[in-house]
Amino acid sequence: MTIFKKQDHLSPFIQYHKKQGRSTGFVPTMGALHPGHISLISQARKENDLVVCSIFVNPTQFNNAEDFKLYPVSIAADIEMLMQAGCDVLFLPSVPEIYPDQYLAKNYELGHIEKVLEGAFRPGHFQGVCQVVDRLVNIVAPDKMYLGQKDFQQCMVITRLLELEKKTEAVELVIAPTLRENDGLAMSSRNLRLNTEQRVTATIIYEVLKNIRDQWREKPLEQLKREGRKKLEDAGFVVDYVEIADQQSLLPANIDDPSPVALIAASIGGIRLIDNLILN
Ligand code: AMP
Repeated sequence: MTIFKKQDHLSPFIQYHKKQGRSTGFVPTMGALHPGHISLISQARKENDLVVCSIFVNPTQFNNAEDFKLYPVSIAADIEMLMQAGCDVLFLPSVPEIYPDQYLAKNYELGHIEKVLEGAFRPGHFQGVCQVVDRLVNIVAPDKMYLGQKDFQQCMVITRLLELEKKTEAVELVIAPTLRENDGLAMSSRNLRLNTEQRVTATIIYEVLKNIRDQWREKPLEQLKREGRKKLEDAGFVVDYVEIADQQSLLPANIDDPSPVALIAASIGGIRLIDNLILN
């Protein structure tokens, strides 16, 4: 695996391979890699000639300075995992490499999707996500970009970003399923911060999602949301939202929605976890 820290070195390398007719699959990450990330790399490996992963803890998408400071970093282990998974290129830029002095932040017209759920609880977060993904897509120029359904709303935002930047033809988005621990907890870099007790409690998020999945056709949706919130709060979570939403609009679903998505964001001991499940 080749590691690049500079875009001026990486871009010509990728362009060279493009000219040879090779396709590029790209997996953007913030590192502290786990098997969920690696499932994206493995899928990219199967479907492309060149597999590029980026690790960049993007400061502009953290609306909470403490969360940014405490974000786990494990570069040596990440490199080992990427090599094992057959990744060809790791892009490991510094902050000034992505945001040089002359960098001008622009505003992305994301509309309603950045105002609800994650957008409402993390103001500015999705603008930061767009900034970094826009930069990375320009540098890597991938044929396919791999994202996890774990970050459901982020997938919607990046779909919108590609439309805004007129890149829907050039870059195909591939959304991969959420990888879970044996007890159902969605794999996440933030899980590393949970202590033993919190780690056990964290499994309740998936339990609530499964309850909703098993009962959403029988019980009123408002009741299911209330019960889910209560179950989480009783376990010690601070709940941002338990929502059952339309997959396209993210507005609260109504009873004749054929396949809504249940989404949860909740913190335990100040560690914020998100998860979702498509109901059908
Ligand atoms: P992150 O490093 O958290 O920014 O995640 C990088 C990519 O990995 C994003 O597209 C995430 O949605 C995806 N991802 C994170 N956790 C999982 C998981 N448990 N299963 C599948 N993909 C994931």
